[in-house]
Amino acid sequence: MCGIVAYIGHREACPIIIKGLHRLEYRGYDSAGVALLTDELTVYKKKGKVSELEGFIAAKDTKANIGMGHTRWATHGEPNDENAHPHFSTSERIAIIHNGIIENYAALKTHLQQQGHVFHSDTDTEVFVNLIEEIKKQNDCSLEEAVRLALHEVVGAYAIVVLSQDAPNQLIAARKGSPMVIGIGEGEFFIASDATPIIEYTNEVVYVNDYEIVVIRDGQLNIRSREDVNQTPYIQKLEMELDSIEKGGYEHFMLKEIFEQPRSIMDSMRGRLELEAGHLNMGGIRAYEQKFVNAQRIIIVACGTSWHAGLVAEYLIEDLARIPVEVEYASEFRYRNPIITERDIVIAISQSGETADTLAAIELAKSKGATIFGVCNVVGSSIARATDAGAYTHAGPEIGVASTKAFTAQVTVLTLLAMIMGQKRGTITDTKLRELMVELDTIPTKVEKALLLDAQIREIAVEFKDATNFLYLGRGYNFPVALEGALKLKEISYIHAEGYPAAEMKHGPIALIDENMPIVVIATRDSSYEKVVSNIQEVKARKGRIIAIVSEGDTVIPPMAEFVIEVPHTSEILMPLVSVVPLQLLSYHIAVLRGCNVDQPRNLAKSVTVE
Ligand code: GLU
Repeated sequence: MCGIVAYIGHREACPIIIKGLHRLEYRGYDSAGVALLTDELTVYKKKGKVSELEGFIAAKDTKANIGMGHTRWATHGEPNDENAHPHFSTSERIAIIHNGIIENYAALKTHLQQQGHVFHSDTDTEVFVNLIEEIKKQNDCSLEEAVRLALHEVVGAYAIVVLSQDAPNQLIAARKGSPMVIGIGEGEFFIASDATPIIEYTNEVVYVNDYEIVVIRDGQLNIRSREDVNQTPYIQKLEMELDSIEKGGYEHFMLKEIFEQPRSIMDSMRGRLELEAGHLNMGGIRAYEQKFVNAQRIIIVACGTSWHAGLVAEYLIEDLARIPVEVEYASEFRYRNPIITERDIVIAISQSGETADTLAAIELAKSKGATIFGVCNVVGSSIARATDAGAYTHAGPEIGVASTKAFTAQVTVLTLLAMIMGQKRGTITDTKLRELMVELDTIPTKVEKALLLDAQIREIAVEFKDATNFLYLGRGYNFPVALEGALKLKEISYIHAEGYPAAEMKHGPIALIDENMPIVVIATRDSSYEKVVSNIQEVKARKGRIIAIVSEGDTVIPPMAEFVIEVPHTSEILMPLVSVVPLQLLSYHIAVLRGCNVDQPRNLAKSVTVE
């Protein structure tokens, strides 16, 4: 959570920082602030979005070639001006921006208060900057050294940038557990939580590793470990395009990303599904093929939408590869003493590749000897680096906080993985595999067709925009889709929604059904179709308002439902890739009609880098 950006070079820092903060705003938007270093260190900060900060500093003198900025997702202390970053130390000679949580902040704060430090905010971050100041004073050392020593004292996660008027012409940064990338330009450097604020200036980047301290001074980048050992920066070339992080004519990033799905699904299959040659490839598993073939169990760890993709994968892998699969919330898994052996494979799914709980789950599984396979979207992310092997989803940057194209890309990659495993284990026939390959190849076109439903779905949204509750029902492969549809609606429209396996409805939620309750039923033609039709009857008998997602040409369900959305037919196991599309659009239109901020829903942030 939270976005950090910093600049040192020959240009004016402030406009670069503000633009960068806008790009990073998907990570948090409770408050924003900048610190600018000339002969003096100046801080401006404001509750609210980056645009509030922009208005606030418009008339101020913001000339400086060194500076840093922050857009916050509050963990410690409510979103207000005082708790906004940057935070000064007591002397106001050092300032910090911070992404993450300092877990031992309370004990450190008590100690620092005894030493005479004064605190103005409720944040853990203000403790960090005072700790640096105290260490600097006690040891009479450089700022860089004080930061290094402070890293030995703090427990938790951080990406920090530190500026001081006593250390002119330099930027100091460090990370553990929160992402940080450095952009290297001609005589200028950028630091940011991800590469989006950097790409228009340079495509040369260095991803900072945990416990590294970065010092940029006199046009030189220097990286040292927490143990004070010099590190050689590994410079990589970025492949991101600028227009991939802009709205491209759409009203919201979410809508753009929903409409990008035919392309993003294709990108996630590229080089992996070779229909003509009849091959399936996944570079990531090559070295671990035997492990996959002999796996006794697969455990999938993930959070949120990625967890739903994991549920789809459970059905896929058990169906095609006949290996038992368990799907776990990473936050539960990491704290519940799970039984893991060396013959288990853990698949970690995360769009950002920075999800704190998923990272911790990976570390736990690693310590027990399991093989870890990552499915992430962001290249070079922490999860991509922490796993033994993996596959990128190649969905392109996802900026809308509610995940859409990342979900379908994850499901595509997991489908390919299940097919490859089935092939290697001999649990799927060549004919069946070939059929699936042919069908998978048609999915981008089918998704494109499903997107043509947009206008119809908007009309349905008008009908239901004032609903206070929604139920989403599905069975089999469409059950995780029901969960995902409900989550999308909750996230961006703030309507309470629940996803349920359609048959489970009788064990509780059916009590909620009356003539006001909208119920979205995913009833595409598959092996549980007849059963779902019965479930629709049960809802209808209780006067629920049915919105049915059906396969094209269905004549059975339309007379029973108030609204019918026809999606292109595909194989049962690929259906989530198609049936989720109308649900994404429904939540989008309902949220827009309710006047909600679709791309930046309240209380949420895209990349959950705190546990
Ligand atoms: N823990 C810090 C705060 O609450 C930083 C949170 C963040 O990563 O945005 O201010």
